[in-house]
Amino acid sequence: MDETLNLKSLNAYTKLIDGFNRRLNYLRISITDRCNLQCIYCASKDFAPYLPHKEILRYEEILRLVRIGVSLGISKVRITGGEPLIRKGVYGFLNELTKIKELSDVSLTTNGILLKDNIEKIKSAGIKRINISMDTLNRQKFKKITGHDLFHHVWEGIELAQKMDFNPIKLNAVALRGINDDELADIAGLSYSYPFHVRFIEYMPIGIPRLNISHNLLIPEIKKRLSASGKLIPVEKGINDGPAERYKFEGAKGEIGFISPLSHHFCNKCNRLRLTASGQLRPCLLSDYQEDFKGALRKGCLDNELCDIFLSAAFHKPLEHNLVGNKPTMVSGRMSSIGG
Ligand code: SAM
Repeated sequence: MDETLNLKSLNAYTKLIDGFNRRLNYLRISITDRCNLQCIYCASKDFAPYLPHKEILRYEEILRLVRIGVSLGISKVRITGGEPLIRKGVYGFLNELTKIKELSDVSLTTNGILLKDNIEKIKSAGIKRINISMDTLNRQKFKKITGHDLFHHVWEGIELAQKMDFNPIKLNAVALRGINDDELADIAGLSYSYPFHVRFIEYMPIGIPRLNISHNLLIPEIKKRLSASGKLIPVEKGINDGPAERYKFEGAKGEIGFISPLSHHFCNKCNRLRLTASGQLRPCLLSDYQEDFKGALRKGCLDNELCDIFLSAAFHKPLEHNLVGNKPTMVSGRMSSIGG
């Protein structure tokens, strides 16, 4: 049967359910491929220029796609990048997004550089929870990892976010052997004194990576090392939870999460689609398959045709990624454009 026709006839009633019966209700949106940091695990080794402005989806285009996604069952959206807070007009855009009442969750991932000076605007735009990248508690190392001497600036932003009652505040640390692995206990230890959810993420090589695999540090080893700091007590997962395995140290205010895309991939539960800064819809972070929303939008296509693109991406979502194993596939593109 013609696949396109099949999808068209289905789209009036269909929710985004892929070929493996996974319900896709989570859209992650990279609103810019630009960033004010150059983290060693994220920035690519080659120096390809940023996308020209006209190649980035406009806010009204993104909002149109989100509304269509919502009609197909999208209920959660995360805004990411690049660094989302550097894009002009972002607070107005967030405000429009949080007005979409069918979205039960709109969240933001940021490196925190612009947090301190814009926290009120983020709050008034209706954002209640934030993820902040924080890979080290050491100022010199922060500079080594990100290229900028701004640790204290970010930390002040994190503390301010806590005072302003963002909840939860998740701190993301990409665990890197030989770079920040001497700090695992200190980073996890933040959860004793703050109600933060500290999350350790395995490093994924994407694009032309600046780090080699000798820096990989897998979650089982991290857990083993952390068990010396205290017993890790499992926390029951909520229905809206992402892939993090959740734990708590006894008596801690916050939690510790482990995200293990390599050592224990969670593809069987993956509910995500990704809208890239350049307007492509990717059903899997770790596969190059994508559908062209921007081309369709700019040709003036109807909502119905955009529905078909969503459904086609769901249809093509792979069962699992192929980043490990005997013949791993390399993922091209940049994390900042795809949206981490
Ligand atoms: N600029 C924002 C930030 O720094 O949080 C948002 C974009 S960043 C690409 C989103 C997330 O992707 C961050 O938490 C970062 O730690 C994670 N990330 C980036 N590159 C990664 C990689 N190669 N492996 C694992 N996580 C990565």
